[in-house]
Amino acid sequence: MIPEIEGASLRDIKKFQEQKLVELLSYVKENSKYYQRVFQKHNIDISEIKTLESLEKIPVTTKEDLQLYNDDFICVEDHQIIDVVTTSGTLGEPITFVLSDKDLDRLAYNEYLSFACAGITKDDRIQLTTTLDKRFMAGLAYFLGARKLGASIIRVGVGSPELQWDSILKLKPTCLVAVPSFLIKLIAFAKANNIALDTTSVKKVICIGEPIKESDFSPNILAKKIQEDWNVELYSTYASTEKSTAFTECEEQKGGHHHPELIIVEVLDEHDKAVKEGGKGELTITTLGVEAMPLLKYKTGDIVELHQDLCKCGRNTLRVGPVLGRKKQMIKLKGTTIFPQAIKSVLNEVDEVNNYVIKISKDDFLNDKVTIKVEADTDQEILRKTLQQKCKTKIRVTPFIEFVSKREIHALMFPKLGRKPIDVIDERNCIT
Ligand SMILES: [Zn+2]
Repeated sequence: MIPEIEGASLRDIKKFQEQKLVELLSYVKENSKYYQRVFQKHNIDISEIKTLESLEKIPVTTKEDLQLYNDDFICVEDHQIIDVVTTSGTLGEPITFVLSDKDLDRLAYNEYLSFACAGITKDDRIQLTTTLDKRFMAGLAYFLGARKLGASIIRVGVGSPELQWDSILKLKPTCLVAVPSFLIKLIAFAKANNIALDTTSVKKVICIGEPIKESDFSPNILAKKIQEDWNVELYSTYASTEKSTAFTECEEQKGGHHHPELIIVEVLDEHDKAVKEGGKGELTITTLGVEAMPLLKYKTGDIVELHQDLCKCGRNTLRVGPVLGRKKQMIKLKGTTIFPQAIKSVLNEVDEVNNYVIKISKDDFLNDKVTIKVEADTDQEILRKTLQQKCKTKIRVTPFIEFVSKREIHALMFPKLGRKPIDVIDERNCIT
């Protein structure tokens, strides 16, 4: 089932979004203290903003704005708030988001569209390997979306390969929602416990949190590693609390589809100007149909490329390519610009590396410095040379490699307040 608007002509999709934009502008002017101030300060007459192009008259909203004026973004009365969540806070202080009853319906519709896009139907059984708690919006979204779709759902939660396998073998899910690197752990557990990977009920995995594609949509090393051992289809989904919207791949697997009824997307350069079609830039979003905390031109910090060519699946909406990196995590090393994702790709290729955490900091001269903390069982000096050599060839930099114990890497990967394992620690934002 494809909603009518997603199969409409590009012109009609644009017209539809412009109508929604006009409604949104009058809604935030009426209800958002934050945007009332922005409109006033910049002398913005919202009646002049009727097209997507004229959105450029509105200044962008940043993560810092959300952190500083969090409550001023809330457009509803306290008694209308149902769910209270926070962003993950991987880059700075977590931001509080609130959802009204209507927002929960929108969230359900969003995830329903997202599952349907990946070809999941009411006949599927979805095993959720992420948390539903810990103030995490997405966990609840998966549940609500599956319910709307009519699929069944097994809420196993995060971690515990043993319980995951017990559920897979007993309850026979056809689909998992999982962080791709966790699939590597599931595969290792299966191998160690003689579980036959080629006969499991799992056919599809909705991959969250990490990219599984190169920018040309070919599987990246992580995806290849998974599919070498486990014959499952991997679908990439990209979402965040701020967007309250997911971009999930269809069966063509050529980027995450945009759902025009839920969000307006722009890709902007560092001067907040739209990049040329096909260019890379920062994904900037305007949420549609959000009641409690709508956002206008929010810069997500994610560097992406949009794909406008028509998809064979019948949806005429644009697609968002794999996230190339976080703008804030951009690293400048001896004149070369790289993202942690590129370092991760190198590390994921080396089987001897059990676990790793990439630490980004500043050296005494305030230059960026990268230290890779590695946990491995093999000869450290040989592995150090292999890793440095690979980094030099693939990303043209040679980071510091520091070997650490299992206990130390575990403490780094699972901080007390975290809800998913982390693999990048960026300390640069603490030094101004
Ligand atoms: Zn498609």
